[in-house]
Amino acid sequence: MKTVFTFLLASIVSITLMAHPGGHFEQDGKLILNTWTLKSGEEIKGNFSHVKGDRLFLEGMDGHLVSRSFDELSAQDLKLAQFKQARMAALNGGNEVSVKRAYSPANLSFYVMAFLLLVLLFIKSRRKDRQFVPKAINLNQSTQAAVGIMFAIASFYACKKAIVTSAGTTPTNIIPKTRTTFLDSSFADYKPGLETRSDASYYYVATSGIPAHNMMVGITSWQQQVPIPQSYTGSNSWSIPLQPSYAVSPLSTKTNFMKGAVAVAVNGVPIFNALNNRGEDAYLIGELDNWGGHCGRADDYHYHAAPMHLSGKAGLKPIAFALDGFAVYGSKEPEGTTMEPLDICHGHTGKNGVYHYHGTSDYPYVIGAMKGTVSTDPLTPAPENQILPQAFAKAARPALTPLRDATITDFKSTASNAYSLTYRIGSKYGYVNYSWDALNKFSFTLIDTAGKSVTTVYQR
Ligand SMILES: [Zn+2]
Ligand SMILES: [Zn+2]
Repeated sequence: MKTVFTFLLASIVSITLMAHPGGHFEQDGKLILNTWTLKSGEEIKGNFSHVKGDRLFLEGMDGHLVSRSFDELSAQDLKLAQFKQARMAALNGGNEVSVKRAYSPANLSFYVMAFLLLVLLFIKSRRKDRQFVPKAINLNQSTQAAVGIMFAIASFYACKKAIVTSAGTTPTNIIPKTRTTFLDSSFADYKPGLETRSDASYYYVATSGIPAHNMMVGITSWQQQVPIPQSYTGSNSWSIPLQPSYAVSPLSTKTNFMKGAVAVAVNGVPIFNALNNRGEDAYLIGELDNWGGHCGRADDYHYHAAPMHLSGKAGLKPIAFALDGFAVYGSKEPEGTTMEPLDICHGHTGKNGVYHYHGTSDYPYVIGAMKGTVSTDPLTPAPENQILPQAFAKAARPALTPLRDATITDFKSTASNAYSLTYRIGSKYGYVNYSWDALNKFSFTLIDTAGKSVTTVYQR
């Protein structure tokens, strides 16, 4: 009798230890966030997600990732971050994969079962002491064996459930790493206008952001910005993660990412949120040209609508890659069939088992919510939370203001490194003639509809 009790108690203790080896995120179904202290004394709440370079990434209550540099962390929390990183590396064979552990209903049922067994055994032993129970019902070897088997089953479930990632994240290793040959073939048609390279984590696209197609014509709501080449190169290249992972709760593009790109088109032009930075549908209010693009405050050309014209002759190639790592296709499935219904993120799992988005001609055009995990800039809170890493545009001149009732009627290259834009207000025409040299000296000549001309030179 005593042996059974000892065995029972020892099993409960050992399985309890096995089921939550520290760093758990949920307790009784409630998310518990850790508090991290910075050198400055500031405290941030979030659970360890991963470490990249010398940055710690934490996951907050709503699935947002925030990051802090190691330099900012208090000595104690820096040690903790490094310890967790080392442990994770050991767990995952060195891959940057976040596996979290949680209490689970299976554990709960185990505890109930163990408690009932204890009660049962207690009653039996009392009866035995009082000689109420015939010898045949006494705990014998077969009863002990039965108890053992029950524990083996309970332990199996406790361990199995404990390795499920927290809050519904699918373990990243379920999604195959994107082949760089697939990315190469997607971007190949737009070389040498762009350059690509990759490392273990990212596929990089270096580009000037200027497409081969014409720009600007068709805009009826214009802020007087014009396209100039950007230096999306080197460490400021576009970065597409090679190992996507599903987000705990995909962030909607209605309430997030009003700043920065959400995807990069296969011709190297960034794709921004369908809503402009005032939350309006940029396409519907006439801000976009005939190719779905326009220029930002840094004279940076980008799309807000889906560049469906990039889907190749057969319309089967990806038109873009989202910054969560998933491909964006045009109006057909990659196999050539009609597009399957889209989910709230504006995509679905393809025949190859991998998620992809589709571009469409109506809102949200490209991405409804970010299906994959992305890191966001802690310095730009939602809805302006831009995705990191992000390539940044650099202005050559101060941003201008909207020009009422102007419609852009023509845009053409007038020499190498020189463009001329024509706009119309009523029956009168105005012009922007501009050029630049290899040292980033920009000259803008603005000729208004009254014929007044002003030239300004800027050094970027
Ligand atoms: Zn824009
Ligand atoms: Zn599809």
